[in-house]
Amino acid sequence: MDWIEKDKKMIWHPFTQMKNAAQPIHIERAEGAYLYDSNGRKFIDAIASWWVNIHGHGNPFIAQKIAEQSLKLDHVLFAGFTHTPAIELAESLLAVLPPHFAKVFYSDNGSTAVEVALKMALQYFFNKNEKHKTRIIAFENAYHGDTFGAMSASGRSIFNEPFQNLMFEVVHIPIPKCENTEGLMQQFKTLAETGNIAAFIFEPLVQGAAGMFMYDAESLDKLLVIAKNHEILTIADEVMTGFGRTGKLFACNYLTQKPDIICLSKGITGGFLPLSATVCTTDVFDAFYSDDALKTFFHGHSYTANPISCAAAVASLELLRGSDCQKQIEMIVMQHALFKEKIKTNTFIKDIRQTGTILAIELDTVENTSYTNTIKAAVQQFFLDNGVLIRPLGNIIYLMPPYCVTKNDLQRIYEVIEKALIFLQKQ
Ligand code: PMP
Repeated sequence: MDWIEKDKKMIWHPFTQMKNAAQPIHIERAEGAYLYDSNGRKFIDAIASWWVNIHGHGNPFIAQKIAEQSLKLDHVLFAGFTHTPAIELAESLLAVLPPHFAKVFYSDNGSTAVEVALKMALQYFFNKNEKHKTRIIAFENAYHGDTFGAMSASGRSIFNEPFQNLMFEVVHIPIPKCENTEGLMQQFKTLAETGNIAAFIFEPLVQGAAGMFMYDAESLDKLLVIAKNHEILTIADEVMTGFGRTGKLFACNYLTQKPDIICLSKGITGGFLPLSATVCTTDVFDAFYSDDALKTFFHGHSYTANPISCAAAVASLELLRGSDCQKQIEMIVMQHALFKEKIKTNTFIKDIRQTGTILAIELDTVENTSYTNTIKAAVQQFFLDNGVLIRPLGNIIYLMPPYCVTKNDLQRIYEVIEKALIFLQKQ
């Protein structure tokens, strides 16, 4: 039996309708921006494998640090014990995050980072004896993950339809747009004045899985001011936007107001290992700091702060802060901008938008813009046939390349996009 047959027999893949999904591509190895399959084909990983491999694949510096850490200390439970990689990582994160952040809580993926943030915010008010503050505000179409709390905060969609009656109620408001800013601020203020809102959670500047919808920092700042004035905790879900994606280290760096809690994952280890961090202010932490056992944050995962993951993250952050990587980010931002200018008037493009290293192209198809737009399969196949790995969100093609991508790789990806715009329009 070959690998694909064995896979089909035993494995259930994520976000995949197993009945009619295309055969999975068997990736054998990867290096830098490239993935190599068992048939000798190579693909440029234009989306950094679900946005995690920020330095590309197999970075030798991170690999070395992982090897060293594996031999020293693989794992130890994190309640009652600590270790150097977790402390070093907290130190590295706090050094690059806005300075009001003070405490790092580890877990192991984006959904749990969000889950932890929501629980922290809700228990914050419980501990302060403001038990009426239990409601959450989030954006429509938001995507915060697949666990129940994260799903509840997310927009209602096909992703969570079977669980609609089981999720807790969250108030969803539209993202800021030129035409709705005033109405939105008023809506937010009215909600805030009810006095029962605990937290406002948002993907800053870019809504990722929703379709790379972008909005401005200024409007978000205004919402954050209203939240602060009404003692509503603000949670920045930077699982996607963190670690350089928006051109700055964190999307929050574009804001004047600073959130109380930030969720980080994805790029944190450079794609080597699962890890996440939920970082909060001293004020949040202090609401739990007590002689009263009931005020404890009773949350933790078996792999919390895994030392090997933490060592990978320390190494990844060191690379990210280095001038080579920063220059690469600038290069990607610039190349995307030039390409955007070049193709923006193409009649097959409904909208083209960019925030930092993220470029999204919304195709103008007969069907409406949606995750289930049927053009997706043809688009993805066309790119694969041309040696580029992308994963469109319905009719929205987006690029989120690893920072090690070269100018030539980018030109190659842009060429394929231009070819696709001609080829797919004829379909
Ligand atoms: N938050 C955001 C903004 C995300 O984009 C995602 C994943 N796409 C998550 C949370 C959930 O992360 P994970 O898939 O690691 O659980």
